[in-house]
Amino acid sequence: MKDCIFCTIVAKKIPNYTVYEDSHVLAFLDIHPRAKGHTVLIPKVHAETIFDLNEEIAKSLLPAVERTADRIEHVLSPDGYNIGWNHGEAGGQEVSHLHIHILPRWHGDGGTNIHGIVNHPGEMSVEEVGALFS
Ligand code: 5GP
Ligand code: ZN
Repeated sequence: MKDCIFCTIVAKKIPNYTVYEDSHVLAFLDIHPRAKGHTVLIPKVHAETIFDLNEEIAKSLLPAVERTADRIEHVLSPDGYNIGWNHGEAGGQEVSHLHIHILPRWHGDGGTNIHGIVNHPGEMSVEEVGALFS
């Protein structure tokens, strides 16, 4: 997509530090890292969210995450990772091209875990929400 920064990176019009690449995905260092080796992994085709991606490419993402983390593992040997993505404006997504953040973690780095993202369960009980899915 023309005005998409990540499509511009895929087109190699903006340089990147590539961590992993295959025919479907590109993983590169985040320009404003929140951790050493902070990497974003994107599908090469433009898709705003996972709902906009075709199934074949969606299925290629998890193996690509594993291969990207494997590269990071060999180069930086972190103690752990947080891996996930911000979906939609309410989820904090700023670049409207799906990207999975891979954050290497080290003991004592002062970071938190996924439970630190939000703590606002609302008024409904788990049972009431569960009933909506039945
Ligand atoms: P979001 O908040 O949308 O999940 O995160 C977007 C991420 O993309 C941010 O962490 C930001 O630093 C990164 N980013 C934005 N523009 C560029 C860029 O031009 N190059 C690289 N390498 N990362 C970028
Ligand atoms: Zn794009």
